[in-house]
Amino acid sequence: MAIQRTLCIIKPDAVEKGKVGAILQRVQEEGFRLRALRQVHLSRRQAEGFYAVHRGRPFFEDLCEFMSRGPVVTAALEREEAVQRWREVIGATDPAKADSGTIRKLYGANVGENAVHGSDSEANGRLECAYFFAEMDLA
Ligand code: ADP
Ligand code: MG
Repeated sequence: MAIQRTLCIIKPDAVEKGKVGAILQRVQEEGFRLRALRQVHLSRRQAEGFYAVHRGRPFFEDLCEFMSRGPVVTAALEREEAVQRWREVIGATDPAKADSGTIRKLYGANVGENAVHGSDSEANGRLECAYFFAEMDLA
């Protein structure tokens, strides 16, 4: 089993609902190490940059509007098989389809406002952590 990094973003809806503490507690209970942590209010352009792979999708404009409407909390998480494990903890993209006990089932409102982000591959885990954190922060 390989040690991996994945990016967690606590999205604006979950920050607005006061769920930052509960989600970070869950991160630690699930055995992830917090390698770096920060709060940031993304500009529209920064949100578009992060989600560039989705440009052109019907939900892209709404997604970038949502992700830049208030602060997010980003965390670089590390543990064995971090990418797949974090995806399991957060649940399906649509909270209505997410397994019970997952973060999106607990705190997500709908397929757009779904409380948290998780990277989808080991390569993207490294790239997304580097989008938000300097190498010095992650060392
Ligand atoms: P995930 O975050 O589970 O990896 P995607 O990468 O497919 O999901 O989509 C990125 C984000 O875009 C989702 O987390 C969600 O906030 C939003 N999104 C995805 N699909 C839809 C949709 N059909 N309608 C509205 N928003 C969506
Ligand atoms: Mg994705």
